[in-house]
Amino acid sequence: MEGEALSGAQLIAQALRAQNIEYMFGIVGIPVTEIAIAAQAVGIKYVGMRNEQAACYAASAVGYLTGRPGVCLVVSGPGFLHTLGGMANATINCWPLIVIGGSSDRNQETMGAFQEFPQVEAGRLYNKLSVRPSSLEVIPAVIEKAVRTSMYGRPGSCYIDIPGDFVTLQVNKSSVKYIECCLPPPISMAEHSAVSRAASVIVLSKQPLLIIGKGAAYSHAENNIRKLVDLCGLPFLPTPMAKGVVPDNHPNCVAAARSTALQHADVIILLGARLNWILHFGLPPRYQQDVKVIQIDICAEELGNNVRPAATLLGDINAVTEQLLEEFKKRSWKYPSNSEWWQKLRGKIKNNEERSKGLALQKSLPMNYYTVFHHIRELIPKDCILVSEGANTMDIGRTMLPNFYPRQRLDAGTFGTMGVGLGFAIAAAMVARDHTPGRRVVCIEGDSAFGFSGMEVETICRYNLPILIIVVNNNGIYTGLDANSWKQMLKSGDPATCVPPVSLLPNAHYEKIMSAFGGKGYFVETPEELQNALKASVTDEQTPSLINVMIDPQSERKKQEFPWLTRSNL
Ligand code: ADP
Ligand code: MG
Repeated sequence: MEGEALSGAQLIAQALRAQNIEYMFGIVGIPVTEIAIAAQAVGIKYVGMRNEQAACYAASAVGYLTGRPGVCLVVSGPGFLHTLGGMANATINCWPLIVIGGSSDRNQETMGAFQEFPQVEAGRLYNKLSVRPSSLEVIPAVIEKAVRTSMYGRPGSCYIDIPGDFVTLQVNKSSVKYIECCLPPPISMAEHSAVSRAASVIVLSKQPLLIIGKGAAYSHAENNIRKLVDLCGLPFLPTPMAKGVVPDNHPNCVAAARSTALQHADVIILLGARLNWILHFGLPPRYQQDVKVIQIDICAEELGNNVRPAATLLGDINAVTEQLLEEFKKRSWKYPSNSEWWQKLRGKIKNNEERSKGLALQKSLPMNYYTVFHHIRELIPKDCILVSEGANTMDIGRTMLPNFYPRQRLDAGTFGTMGVGLGFAIAAAMVARDHTPGRRVVCIEGDSAFGFSGMEVETICRYNLPILIIVVNNNGIYTGLDANSWKQMLKSGDPATCVPPVSLLPNAHYEKIMSAFGGKGYFVETPEELQNALKASVTDEQTPSLINVMIDPQSERKKQEFPWLTRSNL
């Protein structure tokens, strides 16, 4: 070929670099290995993972944490299929993500090629865009469009399919037109009349409640939301991943009186949260029949879902919050801090906090969840990024572990996905290493949740990411059996017919997975052992560690008026 030649792999890498892509996670193999090598050559950080699903979760967490998509690179067929969970999770969480999948060579299509699968068609259900470039020359334009689409409007996942023969095909450099980095998403503001209507509803409220969602965290609206809370004196409730947008220890945080706040509010201001199952659809009995909802969202289609809103503010949360701030400054209105509503909420908060305290201080062994989280809370750095998943582990951890910074908590999210933890932790540690050196990642997993992607511990050790994993081990899903009951039970016949489906192997030594790869593993059964292991792991800022904490296999969460998220109590 005359002039300087470029391979498809190099072209893809340069086009991604031109869009300021920083991170790529994946598993290489035919036909994408060259793409990973070319990505590294242009300065994109490539992290090789052990399962495509975890790689895809990792790439999506980069999108949430940085506002620019991470890339997940996978092989054709099964490799691609393993990313479906990650693409769906990203799109349902409204996080930007790019997945690049190799596919079979074009001249073997429909012939039963190696790992052939209709990937573009399959990708459509999970992505905002699912495309295959028609030639090498259009790759930069397709990549720019995918990156832009993933971030503009409501963020989500985009899939790009690369036929295997494209990867090594050469193209003349002069025939390639690079596309400049797409502009940051345009900022839209709400109609003036809607802002003023919303303010009028709020000033007439008797029992207002501000709900902060992860859309607010994603849009970096923390400074303006903090100002709004302080200016208007509003009680606020963060959704799980919005914890820390305004610090949990702010006096107006009513998270410890969640059910009461939702049930009795007469006006709710919804900042970047959907009225889905997490918020019990906005319907009775969890809410007042005639609650007035003011919805603020970037996605017009979201407005009016499940309730008829009193006002809809379509726009970017940060910009709309600023509009509200201006409006309230004009009206100089503040919700009185001595209202009956505040008294009710404060009473409930005190009550609930005392109940948790009682459980945390129980001395009996094996430990319960509350004792474990009490010690974790005391010893982990305040600014660490917290990743959490598991059933009880995630739910109790959410109430027991405060967040003080925005985008500080990553969990199973809107889709309730188990298996995200290690991928999220790896992504958070990569981003922290480059952007906020010294900031730690603490990943708190139920034993079942850990199992979904436990082999990523090898990835953690390979890249020397000083992540602290804590496995809260109750020998099962929700509950498990102690070693004696387990032995007895095995005597009764074939394990496949008599082991309870919720049970996992009792006293499994998950910490040995960490020591197998050179990290530090701790097996702890008492509060003292837990404290020592936590202190050692937190002090050692270089070495990955895993603390396997044995708790009472029958340990339960405290009884609630409306048990969290059970169907019968929606
Ligand atoms: P949570 O899980 O915290 O309840 P959801 O994921 O249900 O939050 O809702 C987040 C909402 O935030 C989505 O409806 C999404 O469209 C919206 N959103 C995302 N980014 C922005 C933004 N920059 N401005 C306004 N809304 C946004
Ligand atoms: Mg468990």
